[in-house]
Amino acid sequence: MMIETYDTIVLGGGISGLVAAYNQQKRGKHVLLLEASNRLGGVINTVYKEGYRLEQGPNSILTNAELHELIKELGIEDKIRKNEAIASTRYLLFKDMPLKMKPSWALLTSGFLTFGMVWAFLTERFRKKGTLEDESIANFIRRRLNADILNRMINPLVTGVYAGDPEKLSLRSTFKKLYAMEQDYGSLVKAMFNRDKNGHKREAISFKGGLTTLIKALEKKLGESAITSARVKQVTSLDDGFKITYNQEENQQFVFAKEVISTLPTIAASKVLDFIDTDLKQELQQVEYAPMLLLYLSYPRQNVRQKLNGFGYLIPKQENQPYLGGIWTSAIF
Ligand SMILES: Cc1cc2nc3c(=O)[nH]c(=O)nc-3n(C[C@H](O)[C@H](O)[C@H](O)COP(=O)(O)OP(=O)(O)OC[C@H]3O[C@@H](n4cnc5c(N)ncnc54)[C@H](O)[C@@H]3O)c2cc1C
Repeated sequence: MMIETYDTIVLGGGISGLVAAYNQQKRGKHVLLLEASNRLGGVINTVYKEGYRLEQGPNSILTNAELHELIKELGIEDKIRKNEAIASTRYLLFKDMPLKMKPSWALLTSGFLTFGMVWAFLTERFRKKGTLEDESIANFIRRRLNADILNRMINPLVTGVYAGDPEKLSLRSTFKKLYAMEQDYGSLVKAMFNRDKNGHKREAISFKGGLTTLIKALEKKLGESAITSARVKQVTSLDDGFKITYNQEENQQFVFAKEVISTLPTIAASKVLDFIDTDLKQELQQVEYAPMLLLYLSYPRQNVRQKLNGFGYLIPKQENQPYLGGIWTSAIF
C-alpha cells in the first residue's frame, strides 16, 4: 500500500490551522489539514436559530494589512461588514450604570476618575523606561500608571479581549504595541501623540453571513486538502520527517510529512506530539484556557428606552457582577 507523503501536515482546523494550511498551499507545498470535529472553523462558528444569527465565538475581527490581503485573495471583499460608527463607543459599568469611555463632562464628574488616576496620566511621561524582557500586563500598568487605572480601566479591557487575568498574561504576547510604545517613545502618552498617524487604521469587521464566511472561503480554497472528522492520535518524529496517525470514522490511518504545524489546543498537543520532552509537555498542559459561556438575549426594540449607541459594555472586577460584559450585537453591524 502506498502511504502518501506531504510537505506539510497541519493539525487542527480552526482559523490558525486554516490560514497556516492556505499559506503553505500558496507556497506550492503539498499540504493536508486534519480536523477532529465534523466542521472547520474551531471556535469561530456562526449559527442561525429562530431567525437570529448568532456568533458562538468572536463576533468581529480586527483588520491589519495581512488580513486585508487575505480577504482580497479569498474574493470576499464585497462581503465585508464594517462596524457602524457608533460602535467605536465603549462603555464601562460603574456603580451599576454604563459609563461612556470618551473624554466628557459626564465622565469627569462621574466619580469614576480619581485624582490619582488623572495624576498618573499627567506624570506618566516622566516615569523611567522599563528594562524587563517581558512582564505581566498588571505589572506594566502599575509601573507606568497606577493600580486604580489597572483595576478600573485595563482589567475589564483585558477580560473583554482575553477573558484572562492581567496578573498572569504576558504583556508582549497580548499587547505588544504597548511594550513597543514604551520602548520607542519612553512613554505611552508621548507615543499616543507622536505615533505615525498614517499607519494602517485597524477596524473591527465581520462579513455578510457572519465570521463563518471567512472560514467557508478558506475551506473552498483548500478543497480536499482539509479533512474533517480526522482526530490526530499521535505524531512521531522520524529521521526525515514525521509520521502522523489519525482516526477517521473509527479507522486508523497514517500519513508522512516533512513538516508538521500544530495549531491544536495545548493540552491536545501535549498528548499527541510524541517527540517533545517532558518539560515542554508539562508546560503545554499548564496553559490555562478560560471557559466562556455566552447568553443571547433579544428584546423588542420598543421595550428598550435607551439608544444602544455603542459596542457594548465591559465590567470592572470591583462591580462584582457574575459576567464579563455585554455586546449590543444589533447595534454594531
Ligand atoms: C466567545 C469568544 C469571543 C472571542 N473574542 C475574541 C476577540 O474579540 N478577539 C480575539 O482575538 N479573539 C477572540 N476570541 C478567541 C479566538 O476566537 C480564538 O483565539 C481563535 O479562534 C482560536 O483559533 P485556533 O485556530 O487557534 O484554535 P481553535 O479554534 O480552538 O481550533 C483548534 C482546532 O483543533 C481541533 N482539534 C483539537 N484536538 C484535535 C485533534 N486531536 N486532532 C485534530 N484536530 C483537533 C479542534 O476541533 C479545533 O477545531 C474569542 C473566543 C470566544 C470563544
